[in-house]
Amino acid sequence: ATPMSIMVGVGRGARAGVLVRNAAALEKLEKASAVVVDKTGTLTEGHPSLQAVHPAEGFTEDEVLRIAESLEIHSEHPLAMAVVAAAKARKLKSARTTKFTATTGGGVSGKVEGKKVLVGKAEWLLENGVRGVSAFDEQATQLQSGGATVIYVAIDGTTAGMLVISDAIKKTTPEAVAELKHLGLNVVMLTGDSQQTAEAVGRFLELHAYHGGVSPAEKSQHVQKLRDSGAVVAMAGDGVNDAPALATADVGIAMGTGTDVAIQSSDVTLVKGDLLGITRSIHLGRAVMKNIR
Ligand code: ADP
Ligand code: MG
Repeated sequence: ATPMSIMVGVGRGARAGVLVRNAAALEKLEKASAVVVDKTGTLTEGHPSLQAVHPAEGFTEDEVLRIAESLEIHSEHPLAMAVVAAAKARKLKSARTTKFTATTGGGVSGKVEGKKVLVGKAEWLLENGVRGVSAFDEQATQLQSGGATVIYVAIDGTTAGMLVISDAIKKTTPEAVAELKHLGLNVVMLTGDSQQTAEAVGRFLELHAYHGGVSPAEKSQHVQKLRDSGAVVAMAGDGVNDAPALATADVGIAMGTGTDVAIQSSDVTLVKGDLLGITRSIHLGRAVMKNIR
């Protein structure tokens, strides 16, 4: 009867938009005691939009945005989409770009009209010796405390401006988090975004724990540490940056709206990219396992 129940469970999951790759995943879901979630694209819509451009002295908004767009047009990061869309809305033309490089969890760089340009988070620019980042500190902290993401544009080693980007929390996220907590699970958020932004989102959703500035490798280490402490960990994510952690978790859960790499690294795919799918899959796991025993 065992394989039969599992097959029925897998079929039932599929109809509910929960694609389960193997029977072991259902078993692990039943036993899950912690859910680790990524922020961008998992808790949030993953369709960030540009709210404002703050140029540094000597630069204009359009100049900063045009230079940033010239690099971001080559990036697949959700933040890049926001920059590209905003530049398009302002009818700004891309500048010629060479030597484009993306640094996961940091930002993008390249040569734009002969100048060395970096677009990314403060820490990464500082690591690269960029001057003038701290001039925006106060403003950045305030915006991040409201849940916004800020990224910086550096031209030839000097900060040219700051871009303010926001990404709405998915409508179903608060309900899903409440349900997961109700099921007795520990809900932990790990994000590459700043600690301030992590805190704003974490507090709003009343998560058990939240950590910002986490690199893809650190996401995976966090998951491993939780497992070592005895937790059965389900990890939900959507991005290339989540892939290592998804593979490390007892059960990897990919948002169907996410990247192929995330889906390939996971045991479960939530077709609609909706966290309520996790609660559904846990209920499913519990129902199937109960049937077997
Ligand atoms: P998350 O865990 O929130 O999905 P990532 O690990 O992908 O975040 O990125 C962490 C941070 O690195 C972002 O919040 C951003 O500040 C910066 N970053 C990464 N890629 C880019 C990019 N293409 N343009 C600008 N900033 C970027
Ligand atoms: Mg993400």
